[in-house]
Amino acid sequence: MVANKSVLLMPGDGIGPEVMAQAKRVLGWLQESKRASFAITEELVGGASIDAHGVPLTDAALAAAKGVDAVLFGSVGGPKWDKVPFDIRPEAGLLKLRAELQVFANLRPAKVFDALVEASSLKPDLVRGLDIMIVREATGGVYFGEPRGIETLPDGTQRGINTEVYTTGEIQRVGRVAFELARKRQNRVCSVEKANVMESGLLWRQVMTKLQQDEFPDVALSHMYADNCAMQLAKNPKQFDVIVTGNLFGDLLSDLAAMLTGSLGLLPSATLGAKDATGRLPGFYEPIHGSAPDIAGQAKANPLAQVLSLAMMLRYSFDMDEDAAAIEAAVERVLAKAGRTPDIAAPGRAVLSTTEMGDALLAELQAI
Ligand code: NAD
Repeated sequence: MVANKSVLLMPGDGIGPEVMAQAKRVLGWLQESKRASFAITEELVGGASIDAHGVPLTDAALAAAKGVDAVLFGSVGGPKWDKVPFDIRPEAGLLKLRAELQVFANLRPAKVFDALVEASSLKPDLVRGLDIMIVREATGGVYFGEPRGIETLPDGTQRGINTEVYTTGEIQRVGRVAFELARKRQNRVCSVEKANVMESGLLWRQVMTKLQQDEFPDVALSHMYADNCAMQLAKNPKQFDVIVTGNLFGDLLSDLAAMLTGSLGLLPSATLGAKDATGRLPGFYEPIHGSAPDIAGQAKANPLAQVLSLAMMLRYSFDMDEDAAAIEAAVERVLAKAGRTPDIAAPGRAVLSTTEMGDALLAELQAI
């Protein structure tokens, strides 16, 4: 089979390479079972790249990322690089990648697997069957807005500045992603901001309202303030279908939603751009967890978020819905019967290492 799908793997730091190794086995299974053929390359990123090249993202690695159909990313960062200057920190490599690839819509599903209902911090009946999608704007807002910095005032004290800024175009393009996703789900979008105290939030609300009227009248749109949304996610999360919000609120709300599902180690994400003239859609896929330095090198990391990120890659970059669903079903079956990694361990079940979790998953996939 001709390798017509190009994928760049960027394992990164800490548990990144450990969980990526299991995703690679799943890629191997896809190739061996002749479901697809990938041209796979690999690059350093984050602290690993700082150690080798002095920067968290080399020009060559960036060019490689721009040249492929999809990037599968692990995680970056760790105490070893905490004292590195801010602009060349491991995380700066990740932010630069997202900005340069022009991927602006971060999709974070929060889905509760039946076998893990008990792992949630909420009561089982509040989360059983939970399946929400948070669409977070990822290249704008306060993390990128200018002016920014720390300045010294005449009296010798200092002032730290960041700027929340959104344009009509930035809001529309992430809004379109949310509305289109909702059409394939329960057809409901909840747009989240702080229009009561922030002008950028007021504009966000106005643009979303007009976008829905002009282009998506068939999708139900509601609005919610971000602080209320945090409360509602903890109180009655199943009321939501698709939530669309800016960068900062999306960062917080998706971590809150993550905890509803019981483990960071199970949550994938996709960050998508706009289709170009040739129909190519930039896609960047990563687990939402970080490099987990506290468990790195101990074979304790749960590889499922990385594997589910791979499934999202199949679905959104390669239209391989069936294969994505097969991987998700295999994850569900592993959670239901096999042992588990320590983060989701349950009484009476074997505790598995990262590789053993990969073995269990591969066994399920091979049984298909
Ligand atoms: P973290 O997500 O790395 O870890 C939080 C907790 O969850 C830890 O106790 C960790 O052991 C656990 N955990 C995370 N992933 C797990 C997995 N797959 N299996 C089992 N347990 C898992 O967040 P943190 O501790 O705040 O950050 C650690 C480092 O990661 C920092 O340097 C941070 O900047 C970086 N970080 C990177 C990314 C990224 O690369 N996208 C995201 C978040 C944090």
